[in-house]
Amino acid sequence: MIRKTRLFTPGPTPLLPAAQFAMAAADIHHRTPEFRALYQRVLEQLKAFVGTKNDVLLMACSGTGAMEASVSNLTSPGDRVLVLSAGKFGERWTAIAKAYGCEVDVVSAPYGQTFSLDEVRKALKIETRAVYMQATETSTGVRHDVEGVAKLLKAQESNALLVVDAITGLGTTHLDVDGWGVDVIIGGSQKAVMIPPGLAYLSLSDRAWEAAEISLNPRYYFDLRKERKSAQKGESAYTPAVALIAALGAALDFIAAQGGGDLAAGRRNLVDNAETCAAMTRAALQAIGLKLFAPTSPAAAATAVYAPEGMDSGVVVKELKSRFAAVVTNGQGEMKGQIFRIAHIGLFDYMDTIALIGALEQVAASALKLPDFEFGKALVAAQKVYAERTRTQKEGGSKKEAAEEALAAR
Ligand SMILES: *Cc1c(COP(=O)(O)O)cnc(C)c1O
Repeated sequence: MIRKTRLFTPGPTPLLPAAQFAMAAADIHHRTPEFRALYQRVLEQLKAFVGTKNDVLLMACSGTGAMEASVSNLTSPGDRVLVLSAGKFGERWTAIAKAYGCEVDVVSAPYGQTFSLDEVRKALKIETRAVYMQATETSTGVRHDVEGVAKLLKAQESNALLVVDAITGLGTTHLDVDGWGVDVIIGGSQKAVMIPPGLAYLSLSDRAWEAAEISLNPRYYFDLRKERKSAQKGESAYTPAVALIAALGAALDFIAAQGGGDLAAGRRNLVDNAETCAAMTRAALQAIGLKLFAPTSPAAAATAVYAPEGMDSGVVVKELKSRFAAVVTNGQGEMKGQIFRIAHIGLFDYMDTIALIGALEQVAASALKLPDFEFGKALVAAQKVYAERTRTQKEGGSKKEAAEEALAAR
């Protein structure tokens, strides 16, 4: 049979066609009124998408570049910071902070789990300058409690800045950035906003900007102060990724249409969409006896699941790719061979989710030794979850359809 390639990977994620067209048409110079208008519009849209009144900055780098900038700009060598780590991306925070000479305390949880707030409270010191965490740990499929950590910092009257890598959290998790007091929030282009890799975005609270002013670290390209000054004039400090910015504008229009023209509502619908795809997937996997890697605090960004006892998870990854051109990811690092991960972040719908579950049943029937396996068990479980969730969930109805049609007619 024909095989259509489909990404089920947590970054890069599937591309929005309208964003691809916008990229192809973006033949403009960046020091022109045309570009300034585009840039200002996209920066405003990003504020609404992130859900903050603070300026959002765009940088031409992958997500890790913005993570590094939030260490190099906010700390000085010798500063004490606390990293909450439960996977490969948590470990990245530790590595970056150490590279910039911070004294790093770490609260860690085993892969597949989240840390306890009690441990965070114990690890917090008076001199802790910043707490670095993920909203969702993509390597394990775990959601962390950003709200809980933010409340804890307030309750402890801590001066520490809260820096959240929400690179897969944005668009898959409800986050009240300003309300909770998140000081820095970071996103990446190849995740929920459905465009190719190459852009990162972040926003800083007033407190975080004060820290950026007194940091003793040398900075040049990733000097956030300089980037903000340029952004206020509708420009970027250096040559921006023009085509990706045009794509981002189109993607944010699409997300706004999901909320009847309102970006904040569109973002909430995008989160609910990811939640539904994730819940369908979890139910399907469990129905055929597969074990979830992160059963207690699962992220809607991606579902991590163990291969059956005694099997290499690479077999599932390979079979899905070779038979159905469906790309899922293996585990990272030590988790390689043990688990595989299915993404729900960005442009995934009911059809994608059901199709992948159907393909997984085919792989299970031919290549996995699962006791009592029968065709249909996984699909039935997913169907029920979908029916239940959409029955209780108002879809946004005619306003959303009208917004989508208006966008299509442009
Ligand atoms: C994808 C991702 C990143 C960024 O990785 P890059 O390869 O630098 O874009 C960081 N944190 C999390 C949680 C991610 O999922």
